[in-house]
Amino acid sequence: MTSRQPYDAFLTRVLRITQLSPHFTRITFGGDDLQHFGIDGLDQRIKLLLPLPDGTFPELGLFSDESPAMLDWYRKWRELPDDERNPIRTYTIRAVRPELAEIDVDFVLHGTEGPASAWAQAATPGDELIIVGPDSRAQEPAGGIEWNPGPARRVLLAGDETAAPAICAILESLPSDFTGEAFIEVPEAGDALELSHPSGVTVTWLGRDGAPHGTFLEPAIAEWGARRLPGAGARAGDPEQGVVAGARTDSGANADADASTDAEAVDSDEVLWDVPEHVVGEDYAWLAGEAGVVTRMRRHLVRDLGIDRKAVAFMGYWRIGRAEG
Ligand SMILES: Cc1cc2nc3c(=O)[nH]c(=O)nc-3n(C[C@H](O)[C@H](O)[C@H](O)COP(=O)(O)OP(=O)(O)OC[C@H]3O[C@@H](n4cnc5c(N)ncnc54)[C@H](O)[C@@H]3O)c2cc1C
Repeated sequence: MTSRQPYDAFLTRVLRITQLSPHFTRITFGGDDLQHFGIDGLDQRIKLLLPLPDGTFPELGLFSDESPAMLDWYRKWRELPDDERNPIRTYTIRAVRPELAEIDVDFVLHGTEGPASAWAQAATPGDELIIVGPDSRAQEPAGGIEWNPGPARRVLLAGDETAAPAICAILESLPSDFTGEAFIEVPEAGDALELSHPSGVTVTWLGRDGAPHGTFLEPAIAEWGARRLPGAGARAGDPEQGVVAGARTDSGANADADASTDAEAVDSDEVLWDVPEHVVGEDYAWLAGEAGVVTRMRRHLVRDLGIDRKAVAFMGYWRIGRAEG
């Protein structure tokens, strides 16, 4: 019997391309093995192994009988010469239909500078992509889900367009007793997407219309804070106390992070990633998107509004001016 890794590689082909809005494209992938793709949903992250310019993939032993541990094939990939190392990017699984052996990934089209966005923009049915994600045949859980509100039932979700697939998937799966607010900043108003959510959760789409990232999201969070916590005010001068115990930084390969202050972390080369492991209170905040924007939002919640840092998950999904990898 072959053993499967919890986070395994699937060879897929583009089945359908659906333009959801000016900047969102949904690509539906098919592949026999996708009947075994994990269905945990929420903000489940996946890795896309994009093809080399000639359409091929390097040989990493991903499809041998005993599937290799991620660390093993990732090390092999890192050791490849530059011109043989294909791009790897992190995305969110938007929907899984095991009965049809199909999955959906929603891509933000941000131009052709980045290989993932360029690939999505040019994709046609039949194109191959290797997707690394949860394998339901494995004995161990795959990990890669950060949404973890514990007992909290009052939530704040905030993010930019790259976090929209995760926020939509999270909101669609929330039990009806959840309340709270979700703010999603997108390139333009026409990028607001249809989604279902508990009636007690308000969803606000913020069109940026050419303004810099965070222009509308950060004030929306400040206004939320002023409404939810009147009188909390800015506690200027509070010393930064460093990231929460158990914090993790993910630079694309789930690397462990050293504790550091917010300011140090945002100036460092690492993409920010700081997720509390045990939420105990009634409130929970989940922030994801451009690293500088999420850092400032988190700082506002924790430092200015005095929200317990152990109730705030924040994830730098990408960083202005920096390619992933
Ligand atoms: C856990 C996780 C889940 C994610 N889920 C999704 C998802 O479901 N859908 C999705 O579209 N993205 C998602 N992202 C973000 C995505 O990984 C990044 O946007 C990634 O950089 C895109 O790769 P690329 O090859 O297109 O660009 P890169 O080669 O990485 O970057 C090239 C340039 O483009 C800039 N850039 C990257 N992304 C954007 C952007 N969105 N807008 C403007 N400029 C950008 C970079 O700063 C850089 O200057 C997710 C990221 C993480 C960590």
